[in-house]
Amino acid sequence: MAEIRFTNVGKRYAEGHDALIGVDFTLESGEMAFLTGHSGAGKSTLLKLIMLMERPSRGQVWVGDQELNVLPRHQIAWHRRRIGVVFQNHQLLFDRSVFDNVALPLQIAGYDPQDAARRVRAALDKVGLLMREKQNPITLSSGEQQRVGIARAIVHKPKLLLADEPTGNLDPQLSEDVMRLFEQFNRIGTTVLIASHDLSLINRMQRRTLVLRGGRLVSGG
Ligand code: ADP
Ligand code: ADP
Repeated sequence: MAEIRFTNVGKRYAEGHDALIGVDFTLESGEMAFLTGHSGAGKSTLLKLIMLMERPSRGQVWVGDQELNVLPRHQIAWHRRRIGVVFQNHQLLFDRSVFDNVALPLQIAGYDPQDAARRVRAALDKVGLLMREKQNPITLSSGEQQRVGIARAIVHKPKLLLADEPTGNLDPQLSEDVMRLFEQFNRIGTTVLIASHDLSLINRMQRRTLVLRGGRLVSGG
């Protein structure tokens, strides 16, 4: 089954700039793939269409068996909850503990606090940071902070994990560690799509790679 399907997707921003042109591809459920291309090629835009942070100007985006143009407005929050997102700057909140950062998506979704606590600890355990749960994330290294961001992205067990330049601020060893984590989640069935312009890292991972150039998918589709 397809987890993500783009059919002839175009995105033109209000200023008239074409960020994506005629993009067609399918990512199968359980696949792990990279999305690459120079800065401005359209990587973030493509991810934003999947998360419904932007709407396509033409064509269709499917996630699972849902075509997003016809997703009812009241189901948008539910749609986003099926997706975990990892950002380059991890967007952690420095006014609360590691535990509370990871718990945030579950609180928003209205989980029972005890069930939430169990899931938060399981997520922190998976990224090797259980012993840091009470600390403020500002006291952690950048690699550890990124792992907290990953724990937060997977704490609600999303079917789909998206990452936008998740290793942008990390040295090569830490970048590789983060990739091994993504592989680990992929092995248990999560579909993973990672936007990155780190070609040496992508080459080492030996996965399908979608290449955008000036908004067009020129390879891997
Ligand atoms: P990438 O993630 O590959 O760097 P983006 O998807 O961020 O590429 O950007 C693709 C193109 O769309 C760029 O030319 C960028 O300037 C433009 N763009 C991105 N977001 C917006 C926006 N909100 N409004 C107008 N233009 C945008
Ligand atoms: P990144 O690609 O690093 O994730 P963004 O998607 O925020 O970063 O922005 C990528 C490019 O899109 C940048 O060149 C930025 O100037 C441009 N951009 C982002 N938002 C807008 C906007 N609202 N209007 C015009 N250009 C934008």
